[in-house]
Amino acid sequence: MTRIIVVGGGPAGLMSAFFAANNNNDVLLLEKNEKLGKKLYITGKGRCNVTNEKCVGQDFLNNVVSNPKFLYSAISAFDYNDAVAFFEDNGCKLKVERGGRVFPVSDKASDITKALTHAIMQKGVRVQLDTNVVSIEKNGETFEVQTNKGLFVCDKVILTTGGKSYPTTGSTGEGYEFAKSFGHNIIPAKPSLVAIPLKGAYVASLEGLSLKNVELRLVGKKKRYSFFGEALFTDKELSGPIALSMSAHIAHLDNASENKLFLDFKPYMTQSELEERLLNEFEQNKNSDVQTVLKTMLPARFVPVLLDVCEIAPNQKVHSVTKSQRLSIAVAMKNFELKYEVSKDFERAVVTTGGVDTKEINSKTMESKLCPGLFFAGEIIDVDAYTGGFNIQIALSTGCLAGRSAGGEA
Ligand code: FAD
Repeated sequence: MTRIIVVGGGPAGLMSAFFAANNNNDVLLLEKNEKLGKKLYITGKGRCNVTNEKCVGQDFLNNVVSNPKFLYSAISAFDYNDAVAFFEDNGCKLKVERGGRVFPVSDKASDITKALTHAIMQKGVRVQLDTNVVSIEKNGETFEVQTNKGLFVCDKVILTTGGKSYPTTGSTGEGYEFAKSFGHNIIPAKPSLVAIPLKGAYVASLEGLSLKNVELRLVGKKKRYSFFGEALFTDKELSGPIALSMSAHIAHLDNASENKLFLDFKPYMTQSELEERLLNEFEQNKNSDVQTVLKTMLPARFVPVLLDVCEIAPNQKVHSVTKSQRLSIAVAMKNFELKYEVSKDFERAVVTTGGVDTKEINSKTMESKLCPGLFFAGEIIDVDAYTGGFNIQIALSTGCLAGRSAGGEA
């Protein structure tokens, strides 16, 4: 029998505890909050997008932004099919929605936490809430876990304290300090899956404007990313699915000023097709204001902004628009440059990128390469993915591997 302490009661900690409890091991889960899975309650807007049909093999790895290869063994150990079976076995039926996103049939995130809690209770895991871990030391073969409720000793520790985003849920980043105390390198933590802060006088005038079927492109010297879909201008920020996905790449930029962000309002058309379309529209509406014609092709609130960038008066008559003016409109419609900043907003970031360096963790077991007996799972590790259920799947898969390994299962 091995004594195992799991630090943190999010999805990674709950899954780790479940698998660690095999072989009659004595598993104690310590959580500083008054309840388990506090962050899980707010996931998926309260519905918890717990996994995705694509969480299988390479399809899953394609949706991981940081260190996908590190997760190869974890997703092989516990994938989408295992997650569906696990939750159904523990009383929570799941359903698949658009984009392969998986939710509980009840649409209640609390049912996911209930299922995880039911699973660990059945295995005899002991849970101690309101217990804040303040330090962890290794003394010979034994770990000493110091908390506000006293000292606990054990043979193995699984660290699942999450990242730094939404700190009100308990994920405040102290797990990084515990890892550092064992010599681990921490890749600097940054907010990811977060709205992109925008610069420019026009930005305030666009608040509330939502866009569909647009493309967002990040163009750098070495890399280029693009996302197609929906976006929303909020208070001096660009939000919505494609902006959040792009933020995952912006968070990794060494030099944001060398990477330009463009909005393409007509991604289905080539530049020359759009020029031709504009020419036709202008020919048919020679006596209209240019803004009137453009409002049939663009969101009305965006037209004055675009014309301002092109230095064309909104009420200029179409027949007086020069060829170069018309071309500049076409270029701006396909390549509207958004001046942006890198977000520092951990309060509203869905995940944290950065964390315990994957080079120092055995990807087959989740055990520290520096400190035998110490394991990691979930967002504390430098892994993160796009929205769609991939981040909770990371927590479940790495939790499974860490729990099994700490518990002595091959
Ligand atoms: P966490 O869930 O952060 O859990 C860590 C736990 O450790 C916390 O309970 C914390 O209190 C505890 N802890 C920390 N330090 C200590 C300490 N010193 N002592 C004791 N306990 C400690 N992902 C998806 O896949 N689908 C979604 O729909 C989705 N929606 C999201 C919506 C929002 C608003 C947010 C913020 C995130 C969302 N995510 C979603 C991301 C997902 O919630 C996280 O990736 C996931 O919860 C990470 O799991 P974890 O167990 O590693 O960490």
